Amino acid sequence: RQAAYAELRDVEPFTRCGTRITVMMNAGLRDDMSALAMTGADGVGLFRTEFQFLVSSTLPQRDRQTRLYKDVLDAAAGKPVIFRTVDIGGDKAVPYLSSDIAEHDENPALGWRALRLALEREGLMKSQARSLLEAAAGRTLNVMFPMVSEPWEFDTAKLVFDEQLDWLRKQRKPLPEEIRYGAMLEVPALAEVLDELLPRLKFMSIGTNDLTQFLFAADRANPKLAERYDWLSPAILRFLARVVRGTMGHEIDLAVCGEMGGRRLEALALMGIGIRRLSITPASVGPIKELVRKIDLAEITAAMQGWLASPPPDMRAALRHWASEREI
Ligand code: PEP
Ligand code: MG
Repeated sequence: RQAAYAELRDVEPFTRCGTRITVMMNAGLRDDMSALAMTGADGVGLFRTEFQFLVSSTLPQRDRQTRLYKDVLDAAAGKPVIFRTVDIGGDKAVPYLSSDIAEHDENPALGWRALRLALEREGLMKSQARSLLEAAAGRTLNVMFPMVSEPWEFDTAKLVFDEQLDWLRKQRKPLPEEIRYGAMLEVPALAEVLDELLPRLKFMSIGTNDLTQFLFAADRANPKLAERYDWLSPAILRFLARVVRGTMGHEIDLAVCGEMGGRRLEALALMGIGIRRLSITPASVGPIKELVRKIDLAEITAAMQGWLASPPPDMRAALRHWASEREI
């Protein structure tokens, strides 16, 4: 099978009906970037910048950050890379910040993490902004903020970048050719204010890992709960379908970057509700490209509409049956 996927490397993922689906990969380390050429993914839809912070025993200095981001952009060779600003705190504690976190957090996933932490630790956000802006000189920089709960958080984070950009401009340093800002949708509350949020964004990526744990109030790290909810449950799929509808009429790229998108039946369901961009684990790129080439969007859209209006007793079984009938 691996050989078959290697053959798909240079094949663009068009559906049977001729729609191009964007299949990107998730990454977090310099070494992950070799998978881009190996899989033929369309780019990096989620670069988890916190990995560098997590493997380091001290706060990574600006020059180290800049070097990593430059290397990543070089390795991408012109394909887009979406850098997510740090998502540390919560279960991703780092020694040089953990005393603060231990003090604050009884429920780390709901706690002082990601943008919430970065906006208060202004030095952290500033140094990351400067590093990203410098690393992308002369190129396109895509920046994505994690755990945005309300639009003002997006504005405040972007302001940090604007200030650093001003500073670089005054110093007559080379600037990125274009800067595109986006947000992750992983806090359910944000879905209720899309009309206010979306005019500010160029792209949005749905983080179904966190979104699911928040929707079901079920800790994603607790194995006792792993069987208790399903990504293919009507609650999740209806929620996501509503988000897709909420983005209509707005000029933004909407993607899903949670693990869900790398699984066959889940990817099928996502395309059935209108998702056209996925960012997934590199090992899934081949299998998902293969899936894309077998499907007809009108067919899966009609099937999903029926199932969401009136859910079958077992959505997973229904999708599996639907796929096997069509030899997908
Ligand atoms: C997510 O929450 O779905 C996501 C992609 O981000 P992470 O897994 O890094 O929290
Ligand atoms: Mg997340």
